[in-house]
This record gives sequence, C-alpha cells and structure tokens, in this order.
Amino acid sequence: MAGSGTAHLRGEDALLRVEELVVEYPTKGGVVQAVSDVSFDVLPGETLGIVGESGCGKSTTGRAVLRLDRMTAGRITFAGERIEKAPEKRMRELRRSMQMIFQDPQASLNPRRSVKDLVVEGLAVAGVPKEERAKVSREVLTQVGLGSERFANLLPRQLSGGQAQRVAIGRALALRPRLLICDEPVSALDVSVQAQILNLIEELKASHDLTVVFIAHDLGVVRAVSDNVLVMYLGKVCEFGDSERVYSSPAHPYTRALLDSVPLTDPDRGFNGPALEGDLPSPLNPPTGCRFRTRCPLAEERCATEPPQIREVRPGQYVACHFPLVSGPSPDAAPATSAEPAPAAAESQPAAGTA
Ligand code: ADP
Ligand code: MG
Repeated sequence: MAGSGTAHLRGEDALLRVEELVVEYPTKGGVVQAVSDVSFDVLPGETLGIVGESGCGKSTTGRAVLRLDRMTAGRITFAGERIEKAPEKRMRELRRSMQMIFQDPQASLNPRRSVKDLVVEGLAVAGVPKEERAKVSREVLTQVGLGSERFANLLPRQLSGGQAQRVAIGRALALRPRLLICDEPVSALDVSVQAQILNLIEELKASHDLTVVFIAHDLGVVRAVSDNVLVMYLGKVCEFGDSERVYSSPAHPYTRALLDSVPLTDPDRGFNGPALEGDLPSPLNPPTGCRFRTRCPLAEERCATEPPQIREVRPGQYVACHFPLVSGPSPDAAPATSAEPAPAAAESQPAAGTA
C-alpha cells in the first residue's frame, strides 16, 4: 500500500515531508481515527494552508510533526531527518527549528513572567547568557511590534489578545526556527487584529526565511496567506494544490461545499450556496470507502466500497474523489465527471508520475 496516497508529493528538497501519517487515539469508547493516511510536503519558503472543519485532524497533524503526540504510523522528514526515528534528545534540538504557535497565546505564557523575559524563555532553557538574552529580547520585541519600553515589564494578563499573540510569535522567533506551524493563530482575535497578525506573520516569513504551515478552519484566512492548500475531512486528505486554483475551481465536492458555505463579503448576497448538510460522522467509526460520501451530493455505490486515491486532476491540483468536479477541457485532466468511472486499477496509478 506504500505510496498509494502520495501522488501529490513533489520531491526530495522539501523542508517538511509527511508521508502516510496515521494518528489514532485509543479511548474508552474505541479508537479515534484522528489522522488516517495523510501526506503532504512543504518546500523551503512556502506556506501550506491546512483547512477543514473542526475535528478533521488539523491540530493532530501539526502536533505529530513536532512529535507532541505519538504517531501510529507514517514517516515525517524535516530537513532530511526522520522525526519519528530521532532520539528524544535530538528531538528537543529539532523542536527549536520547528516552532508552533496556537489559538490561545495566553495559555502558553507563564502568567508571572514579564513580556521581556517571556520572549526569551526558550533561550534561558538553552543556557544562553543573560546579556545576550536581553539583547535578543529587545530585537525580537521590535520585530513583533512591541518594541516600545512600555510593553517590556507587562504581564500576560495585561496584554490584549493580539499583543499576547505577538509575544507568542516573538518567543518562537527568538529560537530562530526554520519552520513555523501556526495552529489557528488568529481564530480567537477580532477581525481587525486578525489582519495585523496575518501581516506580521507574512513580514516575518520574508525577513526570517521561514517556511510556514498555517492551520485554520477559516478558508478566507488560509487563502490570504497560503501558496498551497491541503483540504482535510475526517482525518483524510480531500484535495491538495495551488491555493488560487483550489479556491477558484475546487475539484473535490467537499472543498466546493466548504467554499459555498463561506459568507460572501457582499452582505446582500449572503452565502454562496447551501451550507454543508448532515452531521460530521464519528471518527470512532468513519464511513467505509470515501469518508465524505455520507454528506456528498455526488456519492454513488462505488464511493462506499472503494476509498478514492489521490491523483492529479489538473496540473498542480490533486484530489481524492471518484467523481471530481473537473469542468471544461483541461490538457492534463483525468477522466471527466460524466464519463464512466475509470477502472480501479487505472485509478490507483498516481497521475503525477511519482514512484
Ligand atoms: P482539528 O484541529 O481539525 O479541529 P483535532 O486534530 O484536534 O482536529 O482532532 C481530530 C480528532 O481527534 C477529533 O475527533 C478529536 O476529538 C480527536 N482527538 C484529538 N486529541 C485527542 C486525544 N488526546 N484523545 C482522544 N481524541 C482526540
Ligand atoms: Mg485544531
């Protein structure tokens, strides 16, 4: 089965490569299938957006990269090094290069430490001398827009949500990471502050040569920052590809439904189309075949028996669906939606020419 769901992986020079990741949580009620065979890669300097409804496995994926959760199966390669094989001591070093910021920055900040100490806490742990820390603290606070003296001695509870997120970003930057994993970093912030934080991440990405994984349930936010986007549903990849292409002509019915349920900016027009119908199935007992089939308007018998493999439907756009929404002629398109479904054997051949 190796390589079955990896047609969209691009090459050996990715900074981060996740292959066939599986994360399961044994619970009293059964085994939660949080992430089931997820693959993606991020080239140096890229931003990958990960979107999908709450509970689809976005945070679990991010946490697995840092090995904060134990992965059940799969391979994760960061800068050529296999994460799942690294000894714990090496992993602690690697985690400096792979920083993560979260939705609730206050929760990650020690309530008794001042802003100027918080941003260099990681350096203190690493044994960096005090004077050097003070210097880095001033630099980093300036970079995240908190350079004014009045912020230096504030405690976390004296900060607004946006300011606290700036401190959290500063803490990450102080460790000079190569990869920044942002897990819903603006979801708890006011819309006006969201834009400021997104701009800050964009600026820092350029000035610090960062590669970014940007997780959010808000498609608009992800579109604003991402080069590529990975759409997840119930622990599976639905679609992966160039963000503009995926947004302008989604190939998976789930992506289409997600986009249709986004409120339009013009309030008179309301929503694009019908919101997603039906409940999200339980990750304890996900549907057979395609996991989206119970809510999919295009589902047929085949979708219940045969899990769709990911394949290229347009150049740079990959989809795991038996009946992708490929409209109009496209030179490299896979079989059109109205055509007879391709035989299963042909389906499992990755279209991208990867082995
Ligand atoms: P997302 O970030 O997309 O909202 P998560 O990755 O947090 O989704 O969760 C994916 C699934 O795994 C959900 O069904 C969630 O309830 C479950 N889950 C997450 N963490 C745990 C855990 N520690 N134990 C059991 N189930 C978990
Ligand atoms: Mg989450």
